[in-house]
Formats: sequence, C-alpha cells, structure tokens
Amino acid sequence: MEGGFDYDALQGRVVFGAGRVMDVPAEVERLDGRRALVIGGHAQEEPVKRLEAMLGVACAGTIVGVRQHVPLDSAAAAREHAAELSADCLIAIGGGSAVGLAKAVALTERLPIIAVPTTYSGSEMTPIWGLTSDGEKTTGRDLAVLPRTVVYDPELTVGLPGAIVAASGMNAMAHCVEALWAAGANPLTSALAEDGIRMLAPALRRVVADVHDRDARDGALLGAWLAGAALAGAGTGLHHRICHVLGGLGLPHAEVHAAVLAHVAAFNAPAAPDSLERVARALGCADAVAGLAGLAHDLGASATLVELGLSAEGADLAADRVARTPPWNPRQVTRDDVRGILEDARLAVGRC
Ligand code: NAD
Repeated sequence: MEGGFDYDALQGRVVFGAGRVMDVPAEVERLDGRRALVIGGHAQEEPVKRLEAMLGVACAGTIVGVRQHVPLDSAAAAREHAAELSADCLIAIGGGSAVGLAKAVALTERLPIIAVPTTYSGSEMTPIWGLTSDGEKTTGRDLAVLPRTVVYDPELTVGLPGAIVAASGMNAMAHCVEALWAAGANPLTSALAEDGIRMLAPALRRVVADVHDRDARDGALLGAWLAGAALAGAGTGLHHRICHVLGGLGLPHAEVHAAVLAHVAAFNAPAAPDSLERVARALGCADAVAGLAGLAHDLGASATLVELGLSAEGADLAADRVARTPPWNPRQVTRDDVRGILEDARLAVGRC
C-alpha cells in the first residue's frame, strides 16, 4: 500500500432475505417515519400496491413511474410532491432510477431514504446522486442521499427479465472492477470488490440460464450489495465518467456499462496490473479483459455502443465532455484515448 490510504466508513442498515419487503413498515417506524412517500419504478405497480397496503396511514403518497438519469423536471415535480404531502421519509422501490429519484428529493428536502432495490444497480449503497438536464448529467456526493436502510428482497427480482439481469449485472461488475483501481481504493473496498466479482459472475450466469433459480437470485443480489458498497467506498473513475456522459446523451445506463467495461479495462491494464490480476482471479480466468468480455457475451449483454444508439458525432461529443473534466484514472487519459475507447466500444473492436 504505497502512500497508505484514507477510509471513511459509511453508515447504513442492510436487511437481506426472501420476503423481507414485509419488514418495510417496521423499518419506517425505526426511522420515526409517519408519512412516507413511496417512489416506484415502472415495473413496480404490484409491489407498490402491496407496500401501500402494508404501510396503511404511514403512506402519505406514491409516485409510480420514473425515468433514467433523473431528468431535472422529474426531480422538481417529486420534490414539490414531497413538500405538499409533508412527507417525512422516502421509500424507493425499483431499479436505480427509482432510487435516483428518491436521492434527488433527499438532496434538497433532507428526508431519509429506505431503498428496496429490484435490480443490481448498487445505487442504494452509495451517497452518489445524478441529475440530467439539456443532455448533460451532473453527479455529486452527499451523505444526505445515502439510503439509511436498504431492504434486499431477492423475491422482488424474480420478474426481472434476463436482458435486464445481464445488463444490470454487468453494471454491478463494473462497480467492482472500477473500485479496484479507483483513487479511494483501500484493503476493505478491494476485498468487497473482489468478492463481489466472485459472487456475481457465476450467479448471473445461472440466473440468465434459469430465471427461477432462487439461490442464484440470492447470490446475484448479494454480489450487487458488495459491488455498491465497494464503489461507495472507493469512488468512481474513467469508466463511470464515460458511462455518465453517455447516459446524459440518452443511452441506457446498465447496457452502456456492459458495452464499455472491457474496453476501459483493456486501456487501464498496463497501469493497473494488480487490479486486473484480482479481477482475473475472481473470474477464475487467465486474462481479466477477456474474462469480462466473455462474461458479457455469455450473459447476452454484448450490444455495441452503435447498437445502443451512439453515433460517431455522439462519440466525439462524449470524448470532449469526458476530457473537459478528466476523472482520476490509474493511466493518464487524453481526449483521443477516450475517443479510441468509445470507438472500440461502438464497434466491439478487440473483444474476445
Ligand atoms: P432502471 O431502474 O431504469 O431499471 C431498468 C428497467 O428494469 C426498467 O424498465 C425497470 O422498470 C425494470 N425493472 C426494474 N426492476 C424490475 C423487476 N423486479 N422486474 C421487472 N422489471 C424491472 O435501471 P437501473 O439500471 O437499475 O438503474 C439505472 C439508473 O440508476 C441510472 O439513472 C443510473 O445513473 C443510476 N445509478 C446510480 C448509481 C449511483 O450510485 N448513484 C449507481 C448505479 C446506477
């Protein structure tokens, strides 16, 4: 550990287990909540109705239907709604988009969040918020948006389609990989990240092969927890910056992570050999880049950035934006490097 490290433990309570969504009312009480605003994703109508019934008078209101990357107008409407209802806590149930909208409300209204994630986005473990306007995504860190309680119920992921399992699983994988080489990496976050990879890879392969494999669903959600916790502690770098810029341009979040990850790993490989060795070890393969590309391929998460809608002009603009405020990265990166990575990911060049 040349130069040592700093480590700030993040607070938060995690409740994990099949059927534990039933514990949400007790978790609201634990936070002294009396008027919860429930924020649910598009596919969450049923769970939201059940939550409303379980909460009874403790449910002050509901927002169902969220958009990716938290457009500023969605955030403004949700904040206004929370204030009108005099909400005293937020319950986000759904993928990263539902958690993201709750974070946008928490950022200004300072309300505690209970997150009930149904994808592997990992957002529920981080103090990172994101907001999008005019095609640009802004992100930041604020402890007020870190969910106070996370309720992981693998049963809520049973309806998750294979394509979303694959892409969202690669999003979690990207958290682990970047956490290994990020500026804030330390022995604890690296252990979480390596174990996250070890848990996610086989579990995701099994879930995609059989969506009813409950053990594998448990393993994938556990891996997502470790991935989110690793990223929250270690911070983000070039990979996440590229994905956030592409998200601002309207590309789908998890699918972009899947398309870009192996290419950033290939770029960083000469400068972060120890990190890549840990990735390879956890994947059980000889070469981390090939292992990551192979996993995405096996899961069916191998759409190129062209297939996800990134034109050559869009790639030029994205490279300009990444280079405008270059992120910390183990290998020095220029605008042309970013453009090269984007071109490789647009066309899947160099993939195994
Ligand atoms: P998402 O929340 O948009 O969900 C993807 C799709 O899955 C949606 O169509 C949703 O309706 C569907 N879905 C979710 N759960 C389902 C279920 N159980 N059954 C069936 N369908 C289901 O996408 P995501 O990838 O989870 O999250 C992406 C968003 O989260 C982006 O805005 C991204 O920036 C943000 N994010 C933030 C962080 C952070 O730390 N701040 C980390 C990761 C992602």
